[in-house]
Amino acid sequence: MRQGPEKITLSQGTIKLPEFRVFSKVGLLLKEHHQFSSFADAWISSYLDSGKQLYCRDNCSGCCHLAVHATFPEAVAVASELSTQQTAALAGYVERIKNAHKDWGNLKSYLKEHRQKLGPCPFLNQKGSCTIYPLRPLTCRALLSTRPAAWCTVDFSELNNWDKQAYESSLDRQVVAWPTHYVAETQDFGQQLEKTLLETMQREKGWALSGNFAIMVWLEQTCRLSDVTSKNEFQELLATNELNSNLLLDFINHN
Ligand code: SF4
Repeated sequence: MRQGPEKITLSQGTIKLPEFRVFSKVGLLLKEHHQFSSFADAWISSYLDSGKQLYCRDNCSGCCHLAVHATFPEAVAVASELSTQQTAALAGYVERIKNAHKDWGNLKSYLKEHRQKLGPCPFLNQKGSCTIYPLRPLTCRALLSTRPAAWCTVDFSELNNWDKQAYESSLDRQVVAWPTHYVAETQDFGQQLEKTLLETMQREKGWALSGNFAIMVWLEQTCRLSDVTSKNEFQELLATNELNSNLLLDFINHN
């Protein structure tokens, strides 16, 4: 049975949830976001109280130049909420991916080319703020930087050995996801919550999907990706839209 929009009350107030056709447990996603925020707030307080420092700041958007990997339910939540301006920025990003992805031979080249050539996330505005902040995916919430922002956009393959060693010895080995400067515990917790979202979707729908966040938002907004019923249909949809690359999306179907 199709359900009407739900509401959920969080510390920030009551949010009317978008109609979420693919996923009847519509409140689960935002409850997870809330649960994640409580976990991250407690972690940050304890880390700062120990005299250490984090470098994430308002309008700092270094990590928004990285490829954002998310679950499909998170993308569906955003797809129905976009303004004309956000939709245009999204379309531009997808066009750039279509033109570029055939040259990416492996995950490493996808991540590198994305960071260097595709421009920032389409949901980042010119002031460096996230325009979907309340609905940004868990991946974005989980990235906490223990080094200054410049390190978030560095291409480590281009560093000389001396700089690499200096970087590595500056890391707080007890908390980072080695060899990155991002906090491991928040990423681990975000991944646990993502797993729950995907398992729930798999149970309800017979399939689940994760991958490039903006591509999933665009496919849901323009092609109703959530109406797909099989892997074949999914692959046809990608081929029609010139997005058939294993690097971009991961279709999960255990049936
Ligand atoms: S969704 Fe928001 S926080 Fe995440 S990469 Fe895009 S602009 Fe940055």
